Amino acid sequence: MLLLLSDNQLLLILKSTKIITICILTFFNSLLLVAQEKLPVKGLCIAAPSKEYVNEFVQFIDDELGPDGINTLVLRIDFNYTYVSRPELRGNSPLTKKEIKDILGVCKKHNIDLIPQINLLGHQSWAEKTNKLLEVYPEFDETPDVVIPKKYEWPNDDGLYCKSYCPLHPKVHEVVFDLVDEIVDVFEATSFHAGMDEVFYLAHQNCERCNGRDPAELFANEVNKISNHLSQKNIRLWIWGDRLIDGKTTGIGMWEASMNNTARAIDLINKSVVICDWHYENALPTATLFAMKGFDVLTCPWRKPEITKTQVEMTYFFRKNATEKMKEHYQGMLQTVWSPAKKFMDEYKNEKNRSKEQSQAASFHTMIKTIHENELKEKDPM
Ligand SMILES: [Zn+2]
Repeated sequence: MLLLLSDNQLLLILKSTKIITICILTFFNSLLLVAQEKLPVKGLCIAAPSKEYVNEFVQFIDDELGPDGINTLVLRIDFNYTYVSRPELRGNSPLTKKEIKDILGVCKKHNIDLIPQINLLGHQSWAEKTNKLLEVYPEFDETPDVVIPKKYEWPNDDGLYCKSYCPLHPKVHEVVFDLVDEIVDVFEATSFHAGMDEVFYLAHQNCERCNGRDPAELFANEVNKISNHLSQKNIRLWIWGDRLIDGKTTGIGMWEASMNNTARAIDLINKSVVICDWHYENALPTATLFAMKGFDVLTCPWRKPEITKTQVEMTYFFRKNATEKMKEHYQGMLQTVWSPAKKFMDEYKNEKNRSKEQSQAASFHTMIKTIHENELKEKDPM
């Protein structure tokens, strides 16, 4: 058959074969490049919606988060669930199992990893309100002598930001682990977020169990206790990163970093813990600190789109310039939202809010847009 072909025909076949081969190679190369450069985590962290807005929230995931390419949703559920194991800790009008399954269903449809959050250790009160755990079990309070004021103001004489539970109380873990176990089951979760940010009350001088202990060791022991508990079910622990950064040496201060001697815990906690590194006023390059210690890390913006854009660019920069070993520790971005879910949904749906100088919706829109731009750039460098 080949012998019957003219020279020109043979040349044409050879040329075509070459072109096809080049096309195939280019295609697979670009696939490889894109696969390498896509951020593993493109996430949103938000409070669970109140009951009346669950359907709207499900729709929001279906219409916005899924099509936007979001693949991780951290849902701050806390006591907003009808716990069967600990009914005494149900908040007002808690979500049902069916409502969680509705949210989970739409997340599965869009391949979104749904992660529950319950604040452990710190954030057991907010302003004038004591949260459910210490309301029902006041004996777990690290600072029982500190009375929650009728009108909360910061700063105050007690140094009260939020209450903590005492990590050395012999009964506290059997209670909080019941909540954790139940919520990870209903979420069918492979990760759990325990918060653990802004823990100011730790190793308090008036706590008979913790007085005189090393705050870094206490903090690390609590992280490891939770992490070890979860790992029995192959679930990874996520926490906020602020207690692991030295606020004084870095100049970052007491909110986004620690001024209460917890920073050395970074060398004491399990390397499997995922660090959510939040910085809202500047695009601080602290993700490197965590990556160099061997932790997977997410950079977390809030409401300043200019900062958010820099944080996304910086994450790509880190991944591009890192060694292969460190590159995968830069896992991506997690937008934080601190208003109720309904308010954020309204804000995000109105396109006008997406170009504001300061808004959570604008930050989230910028994060998604900048990620898409970078993914396209990687796909087609021209
Ligand atoms: Zn204590």
